[in-house]
Amino acid sequence: MEELQNALDKKSLKFSTLPEKGRCLFAARDFSPGEVLLSENPYVCVPNKNKESPLCKCEWCFSTTNLKKCSGCHVIWYCSSKCQRSDWKLHSAECKVLSKVDKQRVNSLTPSLLLMVKLCIRRKLEIEKVIPTSATESYKYVEALVSHMSDINEKQLLLYAQMANLVNLILQCPDFQLNVKEIAENFSKLACNAHTICDGELRPLGTGLYPFISIINHSCLPNSVLVFEGRLAVVRAMQHIPKGTEVLISYVDIAGSTLTRQKALKEQYYFTCACSRCIKLGQSDDIRESAVLEGYRCKDSQCDGFLLRNSDDKGFICQQCGFLREKEEITNITIKLKSMSEKASALLSSGHKTEAIEAYKMIERMQLLLYQPFSISLMRNWETLIKIFMELQDWREALSYCRLTVPAYERAYPRSYPLVGLQYYMCGKFEWLLGETEAAVRSLTKALDILRVTHGTKSPFMVELVNTVEEARAEALYKLHSQVRD
Ligand SMILES: [Zn+2]
Ligand SMILES: [Zn+2]
Ligand SMILES: [Zn+2]
Ligand SMILES: [Zn+2]
Repeated sequence: MEELQNALDKKSLKFSTLPEKGRCLFAARDFSPGEVLLSENPYVCVPNKNKESPLCKCEWCFSTTNLKKCSGCHVIWYCSSKCQRSDWKLHSAECKVLSKVDKQRVNSLTPSLLLMVKLCIRRKLEIEKVIPTSATESYKYVEALVSHMSDINEKQLLLYAQMANLVNLILQCPDFQLNVKEIAENFSKLACNAHTICDGELRPLGTGLYPFISIINHSCLPNSVLVFEGRLAVVRAMQHIPKGTEVLISYVDIAGSTLTRQKALKEQYYFTCACSRCIKLGQSDDIRESAVLEGYRCKDSQCDGFLLRNSDDKGFICQQCGFLREKEEITNITIKLKSMSEKASALLSSGHKTEAIEAYKMIERMQLLLYQPFSISLMRNWETLIKIFMELQDWREALSYCRLTVPAYERAYPRSYPLVGLQYYMCGKFEWLLGETEAAVRSLTKALDILRVTHGTKSPFMVELVNTVEEARAEALYKLHSQVRD
């Protein structure tokens, strides 16, 4: 690990292993908001292809335009010969493997299987010295990743073993000197170490393994953020990070109560979070926060008190006015909500958008009766409505729901969080499209203030944002001047 520390020294970071936390990364000097702490190219990565993102993507840069299939294997796509050349060292070996596999089987391979095939190939190419290892790129860092094999249940183990067998079949060992057990262990490593590669707007593009970034631990109140510029992963400080502080990012959605966050972390990453937010579990602040984000509202529509379960378990009591909401009434609305949600998503997936909108609006009305105005469920429902209105290019409706989400986002996430900036960005974009120039300037400026810290200023997404803000400001100024002249 001396080599690892030497590589980190150059970046003013310090690697440590603590008994209660395992591997950790610390700042070895002060970092300012927006400063890059660490950037890393993927050891291996694959584009995603699923229902949410059905388009084929370039294997190297994830672009969806000008794609051509590799003429060797007819499986992988590239947007340019430049991307193909960049990927060639690894793909030339992968190409031989994939072209031997039955076409139907290849097309049914999931991204995680393809990622594993790549991982095995890269390991082999390193052993054969076709791909050189370096202080920052080597299979030994993959070997050092946490696997949690002992925490995995039998069903999951069996699944990993089956997947490992399939990988073996594709690779046609013994060429690869990896046994099924090792591959299965690598699958469990991928499950808790692989990162979802996203575009500037945080829409998923693919999956990649970034062994250095995997050292960074989780917090539900992180001081740093991970974003991607193409395939490059970049970790930036979201706030001032003093020397000696642990660098922390979030692994899961940090909106939601402490119990919800802890459940998500336990299920995917097998640890109980003890971050600065989670250690408050059960304290009065934390109880109030959970009740606001996931609890019920007061029966009195004028009262904004939060409700807690009554000791006799007959219902929920408003902590402000003392009104009781009976369990039965809550259960009734919950049942109706559930069946309406099923109906709405069925309508949406069968393409009946107008009917789906009516159903989601009905859900909204029920949620407003049941939950607090800043509830996560309400926020998620509004997001769905925005998405449908965007598909219908109904910017007016999309904007009205987007405006509702902004305060909810600001309530659920830290102030400088990228998702808050992106929600302002979305509002600004709709306002711009609707010709509401002054409002657009306000929203886009707010977006820019947050996103220049989390995203930097150099990526194509940010360059475009900066340009739009300038354009909107110029137009607002022009409108103001022509008003003065009139
Ligand atoms: Zn490309
Ligand atoms: Zn090929
Ligand atoms: Zn936590
Ligand atoms: Zn009340």
